[in-house]
Amino acid sequence: MRGVQQLLENGSGVLNHIPLPMMLTANDAKVLWWSEDAEKAFGYKADEIVGKYFPFGESSETLQTKCNQVLQCENSLRFENFILQSKQGESVHTSAVLYPITIGNQHYVMFTFEIDNINYNASAHELESFKLGIDETFMVTHLDIDGLITYANTLFLKSSKWTPKRVIGKSFWKLFPEESAEKVVDPIWLELKSHRVWQGSVEKLTKDGETYWVDMIAIPVLSANDELLYISILEKDITEKKRLQIHLEQIAYVDPETGLMSRHRLENIVSGLIAEGRHFSFIFLDIDKFYTLKDMHDEDSETTLLLEFANRMKLYFQDSSIARVGEDKFVVLTPLSDWFIQGFLSYLKQYPIYIRNKAIPISISGGITRYPEDQLTFSQLMNASSAIINKVKQEGGGNIVSLSKANHLALSKKTMIEKRLIEALHHKDLTVMFQPQVDLSTGKIDTVEALVRWEDAVLGTVSPNELIPIAEETGMIHDIGSFMLEKACEQAALWAENDMPMKVSVNTSIREFRDKDMVKKIRQTLEKFDCPARLLQIEITEKFALEAESDQSIIRQMVQLQKDGIVFILDDFGTGYASFRYMQLLPISCLKIDQSFISGILKQEKLKKLVRGMIQFGKSMDIRVFAEGVETKEQFDLLTELGCDAIQGYYISRPVVASEIGELYK
Ligand code: C2E
Ligand code: CA
Ligand code: CA
Repeated sequence: MRGVQQLLENGSGVLNHIPLPMMLTANDAKVLWWSEDAEKAFGYKADEIVGKYFPFGESSETLQTKCNQVLQCENSLRFENFILQSKQGESVHTSAVLYPITIGNQHYVMFTFEIDNINYNASAHELESFKLGIDETFMVTHLDIDGLITYANTLFLKSSKWTPKRVIGKSFWKLFPEESAEKVVDPIWLELKSHRVWQGSVEKLTKDGETYWVDMIAIPVLSANDELLYISILEKDITEKKRLQIHLEQIAYVDPETGLMSRHRLENIVSGLIAEGRHFSFIFLDIDKFYTLKDMHDEDSETTLLLEFANRMKLYFQDSSIARVGEDKFVVLTPLSDWFIQGFLSYLKQYPIYIRNKAIPISISGGITRYPEDQLTFSQLMNASSAIINKVKQEGGGNIVSLSKANHLALSKKTMIEKRLIEALHHKDLTVMFQPQVDLSTGKIDTVEALVRWEDAVLGTVSPNELIPIAEETGMIHDIGSFMLEKACEQAALWAENDMPMKVSVNTSIREFRDKDMVKKIRQTLEKFDCPARLLQIEITEKFALEAESDQSIIRQMVQLQKDGIVFILDDFGTGYASFRYMQLLPISCLKIDQSFISGILKQEKLKKLVRGMIQFGKSMDIRVFAEGVETKEQFDLLTELGCDAIQGYYISRPVVASEIGELYK
């Protein structure tokens, strides 16, 4: 035995370099040495094997017979079809070559196993092409078990600006912003060390300290006996997408021009206050004749005016919540009394806004509505306050009036509308106008949007902006919706019959989709007029989308309709809360950038950038992007250049009656 001890002491290092599983046995097949590759191939550690009989597969008798054969003929022998059992219980097919070894007068047998891998060559090739594909698509890095980088591919080096020399041996933590070490990197590392795959989006640092975003998958690679060998990380750069997302989220919460909160944020805060049962005044402020002021000055002065006005509000109302809800419209929430609020008028006189050293006289109109004394919901507070403002303006503006003192006159218009609308619906006094939309890839009008119109004998023209919120509140929106749907299908079928296939887009409110029979209603209407589903499009707003996102039955109805061939369009894009989640949950195929972005697109570089971003965002999600409110050739040309898919607006045509669409189509 001494001889073999020596052989192993001096030789096992070398023997271990032979890339085959090997074992040395005495002539009775008891194991004396077990190579590192054998550990890997069969899962047994040397100390579990050495000194024992061959523990797997073949019985020790048959092995012993084989050993004797080899020793007798004093020549190596090859045995095919050795089926062995690994520690994990798997059958390993091998061929074994047995070598007789004699040291002194002791006889030993050295086994080398060739693991029988019929597919070995093919799979190596497959593996190679797979690896190549990954290499071309992902940034790839490998980490050792201490988190030090051992490999980085070209794509990684390119994005991270590291050189291979510098990055190899660097710690994983160095690739992230310092602040995220504890919150982000440690948890990832913990997962990996627990042999779990980690996946998600993270912010990283280039060598120069610039941040970039990636989608990352980190895979712990384990040995046959479950030891962590190394970690392979695949990443994809998503910086552009992320920047846009952050930007869109910001617009949703903050008005980019003034830094005041957005309408969406305001609505959240009001809901919060109501939920807590707090009393407050809801003040709606509107700068009088803002448009004439605008015309008198250039864009810079206009911005100064806005910013200065926002500042005055912040200084005067201090800790109150202040939001910008329209170009020249603001809302302040405060627990303070009416006389303090009205004092803002004198404050403005005392601290006028100067533009080019000239004091600009600013007059504002305001309406104060109290919660819970006057109104109970956000939209009621909003409507009531703006109704007061209309009345204040009719009387010349320059005043802030509270609801209790506005003797409810303005509100009575709402009551009138409600009453007259019931009759109008009964007599089918509503009409429909159609506004064409040009597809920029063909230059042709292929879609029209149906817009409701109401001319009342007593009230005069009631604009949809006044009509729709009231109809939504009272539930009459269902009747308006049905009426518009019928008209749209009837007209689309008629045009199709006359060789003028024209898609018709209708506006819907979330309340209509709360009706569980919406799908049935739409299918029946299509059938009634023999209108193909592909000619009908449905426009929903971001607010609708946000509410629908959490309502399975609405999503289900939308998906059913989409399967029928109906296209959904996200209207007024950019004004509400743009969320990636609902964009993925809801079957939306197009988005319409809101007019407010288009109107200033030529004057404001910021808006142009934003619109460009929205178009790219749409493209990246495979969604067609439209623009509406396009009034001039310059806007039309710019949007074409930015890659917009279709355009709607006065530049193409105002909303017109159905017969005029035929003329325009020619
Ligand atoms: P919307 O869906 O954003 O419709 C576009 C509005 O912009 C229409 O106002 C249209 O006349 C106007 N418009 C179109 N091109 C231009 C342009 O180049 N410049 C300007 N300044 N305006 C343009 P309209 O008809 O007063 O409708 C207002 C809103 O009322 C609509 O906004 C829509 O949200 C709602 N609405 C209209 N009809 C219906 C309806 O049948 N059902 C529902 N639920 N809502 C409707
Ligand atoms: Ca619309
Ligand atoms: Ca719109």
